[in-house]
Amino acid sequence: MSSIRKNTYEDPTTLRDFRGSVVSVECIACDRNTELDRKTLVKQYGASFTFQQLRRRLSLGCPRLISEDGVDRCQTRFPCLTENGLSFSKEDTP
Ligand SMILES: [Zn+2]
Repeated sequence: MSSIRKNTYEDPTTLRDFRGSVVSVECIACDRNTELDRKTLVKQYGASFTFQQLRRRLSLGCPRLISEDGVDRCQTRFPCLTENGLSFSKEDTP
């Protein structure tokens, strides 16, 4: 199993890429602030689970994720990623 360094922002960041033990999640729009255990997430979703996918899961309860005009206004993001120099784009790569 080879791990490839992901330096381009187009590569989705996965749980494997994140070295910390705590994944912090925040949504300014919803006034939400959560911390998740990375090991638990890996067990649950697998190490190749991307943060985009994780964001989808986490923002399910967010009323701003899908509004009537179809615009994603949820601001769920992962402060832990930027702290660790990893990129996060909320767009899914096809
Ligand atoms: Zn939200």
